[in-house]
Amino acid sequence: MDRAYPLDKYRNIGIIAHIDAGKTTTTERVLFYTGISHKIGEVHDGEAIMDWMEQERERGITITAAATTCFWTPSDLEKKKENEFRINIIDTPGHIDFTVEVQRSLRVLDGAVVVFDGVAGVEPQSETVWRQADKFGVPRVCFINKLDRMGADFEKSADSIFKKLTPYAIILQLPIGSEEKFSGIIDLLKMKALYFEGEKGENMIEKEIPQELQIKAEKFREKMVEKIAGEDENLTSKFLKGEEISKEELKKTLRKAVLNNKLNPILCGSSLKNKGVQLMLDAVCDYLPSPVDLPPAQGTNPQTGEIVERKASDDEPFAALAFKIASDPFVGSLTYFRVYSGKLVKGSYVVNSTTGGKERIGRIIRMHANHREEVDDVFAGDLAATIGMKNTRTGNTLCDENNPIVLEQISFPEPVISIKIEPKTKADQEKLGTSLKKLSDEDPTFRVSTNQETGETIISGMGELHLEIIADRLKREFNVDAAVGRPQVAYKETIKESIQSEGKYIRQSGGRGQYGHVKIRIEPMPRGKGFEFVNEIRGGIIPGEFIPPVEKGVKEAMDKGILAGFPMVDMKVSLYDGSFHEVDSSEIAFKIAASQALQDGAKKCKPILLEPIMRLEVIVPEEYFGDIIGDLSSRRGKIEETFDRLNLKVIDAFVPLVEMFGYATIIRSITQGRGTFTMEFDQYQETPGNIAQEIIEGKRK
Ligand code: GDP
Repeated sequence: MDRAYPLDKYRNIGIIAHIDAGKTTTTERVLFYTGISHKIGEVHDGEAIMDWMEQERERGITITAAATTCFWTPSDLEKKKENEFRINIIDTPGHIDFTVEVQRSLRVLDGAVVVFDGVAGVEPQSETVWRQADKFGVPRVCFINKLDRMGADFEKSADSIFKKLTPYAIILQLPIGSEEKFSGIIDLLKMKALYFEGEKGENMIEKEIPQELQIKAEKFREKMVEKIAGEDENLTSKFLKGEEISKEELKKTLRKAVLNNKLNPILCGSSLKNKGVQLMLDAVCDYLPSPVDLPPAQGTNPQTGEIVERKASDDEPFAALAFKIASDPFVGSLTYFRVYSGKLVKGSYVVNSTTGGKERIGRIIRMHANHREEVDDVFAGDLAATIGMKNTRTGNTLCDENNPIVLEQISFPEPVISIKIEPKTKADQEKLGTSLKKLSDEDPTFRVSTNQETGETIISGMGELHLEIIADRLKREFNVDAAVGRPQVAYKETIKESIQSEGKYIRQSGGRGQYGHVKIRIEPMPRGKGFEFVNEIRGGIIPGEFIPPVEKGVKEAMDKGILAGFPMVDMKVSLYDGSFHEVDSSEIAFKIAASQALQDGAKKCKPILLEPIMRLEVIVPEEYFGDIIGDLSSRRGKIEETFDRLNLKVIDAFVPLVEMFGYATIIRSITQGRGTFTMEFDQYQETPGNIAQEIIEGKRK
């Protein structure tokens, strides 16, 4: 079969928000309006639509799928199939402990709608997600929601976007009225007012802009036009000459700028009060990318190591990324994947190029608002799920057997916290291993390991809550009873200075000789850069076959650490010289020589201990403000900012993770249960000397 919708009418988007900003409500409204729009496109019959609305009300909309497909015809176009867009909504989670889920969804979506609370404006978590989206280069539109709420302030919220997130935001709409008087939206491109009538705001009515807002609207339009015109030479000159720029010209230039991440439109509304969601969907079609607007997917050929590309086209070989494994109560294990190129037919075989295994594609399923659809094939740009894959994990590439490619991996943050876990009975012991494996297949930031010395099982994750939830799932879903120990911080080690270091491993008496000799340069790198190995050997001073063992030796030494046994990170190691022996040289000799060179060298490079620092936001009633601040400074907290939100105090701070264990209980007792907080990993930082010393000694004892 051929594809039902042209690729340029695809939008793969995520709706991203701080907890409580209204992601769920907005998604629900999106599915509702797109449902009606689709019906109108299909039947042209008012009664059928009412009938559908009735059914929808009874069944309710389910939005728990990792990817949901819906259809939308932009409001200005006639409702018919040729004008319809296929929008796949990729679920992004709200909870801070699971930024990895946000990451993995960012990897497979092409554009995003970021929802803000019109009272709170930019909240810390929106900032984190925004930065992640920057990293992935995801084009975004902003939707300032909840403008009907008491305390809502559109301009102030927009201002917080300009100040905290990006100066390249651009206001395309203004609210008409505020708080309980919020009644409609001014579209600054059209210079019209829009109102939303009908039970669920489904009838959008266009009127003239109210008299009292005319001047303000003109002022904002002027700013908007200036910003858009600045993105195009031709428009800039028109603007400077005071010439009229048409709506089409503006939209075209704006689209280009959004696709290139140069501008981020700001829209407004109230999902709960059914205002503005249709206009937001229009903006998704107008400004967010289709798969063909994006550069080709990149990967490597696992056989040759060459970089290869796949264009978003059905004619290319099949390549897809598995981005979520979910258990479904009806069908079992679902593997969600995004197709980057080619097509996939039910019953065929693909290769999991990450692991090298083969997988048969049984059933292919597409999720809709309230039903699942079995399909025979899927095409470039599609998101779908397949049932019953056994050996595919999140982040694996699935591809055509004859055209292997491993797509760029999803990079997951390293776990910052670990605890030991002990099964209660022998039976639990047996189930523990397999259950933990299942959980870590689903969630790549959750790791399982064994302590070599004690034989204990250690689980690691992104925060206390993350691990608590895992322990709880073990019990509820897998029926495993296990006791968990005290959480331990995942420290790391690094160096502050550079050095050149030499390592030799030479054995020439008895048995086979050994000869490995390396000279390496060790340099610190900025936080978060991990590890980089550079091979500068020219002219065969060390034969090519011994280079990978050198890298391996370096890596192994780094993993062992030199201060207190924590892995070393943020270092660049360059192999620049050495020698070999025709007969005696071996991989193992070079590996050992490299390990020694690293260990000896790193010790002289001012090694330090790094600890995870968390970004914390506490929200408390005024009267507890002083106590919270005092408590935070006793935890080595650095207060970044404090401000008022309605009648509450908000405190943003950075605090070392090790000081934050059990904070949920502490804040409850300080504020008599009236305070709340959110916390997420921010970065690793140097542990102060005296504390580092204690950790190193404690570890050595
Ligand atoms: P999520 O946590 O981001 O998914 O947020 P929800 O959609 O669950 O919304 C959180 C709360 O805010 C719920 O009580 C919603 O009813 C409410 N809410 C969502 N959108 C609006 C809105 O536009 N106006 C008002 N006043 N409340 C809203």
